[in-house]
Amino acid sequence: MNDDKNKKSALTVNSGIPQPPSISLDSVSKFIQKKKKQYTVDEYVRGIVHGDIKILSQAITIIESYLEEHQQIAREIIEKCLPYSGKAKRIGITGIPGVGKSTLIETFGKHITDQNLKLAVLAIDPSSEKSKGSILGDKTRMEDLSIDNNAFIRPSPSAGTLGGVAHKTRETIILCEAAGFDVIFIETVGVGQSETVVHQMVDVFLLLMLTGAGDELQGIKRGIMEMADLFVITKADGTNARKAVITKAQVENAIHFFPATDSGWIPRVQTCSAQKKQGISEIWNSILEYYEILNKNKFLENKRLEQSRYWMYEAINDVLRSKFYNNHEIKSKLRTIEADLMQGSISSYTAAMNLLKEYFKEM
Ligand code: GDP
Repeated sequence: MNDDKNKKSALTVNSGIPQPPSISLDSVSKFIQKKKKQYTVDEYVRGIVHGDIKILSQAITIIESYLEEHQQIAREIIEKCLPYSGKAKRIGITGIPGVGKSTLIETFGKHITDQNLKLAVLAIDPSSEKSKGSILGDKTRMEDLSIDNNAFIRPSPSAGTLGGVAHKTRETIILCEAAGFDVIFIETVGVGQSETVVHQMVDVFLLLMLTGAGDELQGIKRGIMEMADLFVITKADGTNARKAVITKAQVENAIHFFPATDSGWIPRVQTCSAQKKQGISEIWNSILEYYEILNKNKFLENKRLEQSRYWMYEAINDVLRSKFYNNHEIKSKLRTIEADLMQGSISSYTAAMNLLKEYFKEM
């Protein structure tokens, strides 16, 4: 017997266990999805329409996924939920960091859920594009609301462009409405572009402002102020209470010169203290009055149709832009043309036209 053949040598290479393919974000995302129970589109829709929060959350995760297979399922779920949507009050809430958004959402949210109305709190966080994390809609910032059975809090989708995130939030609104939520808050930080996208998906827009910081109206851009239907001066308590009245007058004075709105609603300024629970029912009453006026003159219906039009064009623009910039030939040509442009040998318009001609061959 030849022992040598079977003798294990220290130099033998064992085959070992099969190694998994290298880990990519896609494979991790697929793995997480596989671990969860997979529902059919109809099961998702049935669950959502029956107000099953677990299924609603999972469906939102599918909406937020960038995997092509998930996007296909998401589109089908949204289409099937659409007939059940549209009944909620969609309320946008914005203001600079520290103005008191989460404290107000907590108190105001409780005021709403105490009336046995179901409230969903969504968020659009423009900073998440860079940080890949979300600071808004964070449950730890809304302790009472996060354990309230009538409330559902969902943080901002954390990846993608502002336009992409906005699309996903808009689709989440549809699912929440189909799930029977009566009121939807969409929170965003008042730092610029994100207000515009939130304004395009809500019925009524609240701008929170600090007391006593009237100088140049706290650096808030006029364009953003023109979008607001309700100005809320926050933290109107203690020594701030008097200053709040002055700020209220200053804001009223400033918006007095804004062009009249077509909706028949005259923007209002109110003060509140979320901590002391003062001025909260007044905010809700103003919102109810707003709806009464805009429902009566059909402005709300038109506003939502206009918003749908806006989002259709946004979707077209987004797809065109991403297809163009991800096109292989364009990617390499772009670098060369950009270099020519920077050397001054070609104008911006010609550079752009050359690339577009290349992409749309027939141009
Ligand atoms: P956000 O960044 O806009 O969400 O603001 P927060 O809700 O986190 O509030 C910022 C700070 O203001 C916190 O320290 C709050 O305790 C405080 N704050 C919020 N609302 C009130 C209020 O009604 N009265 C007072 N005095 N402080 C408040």
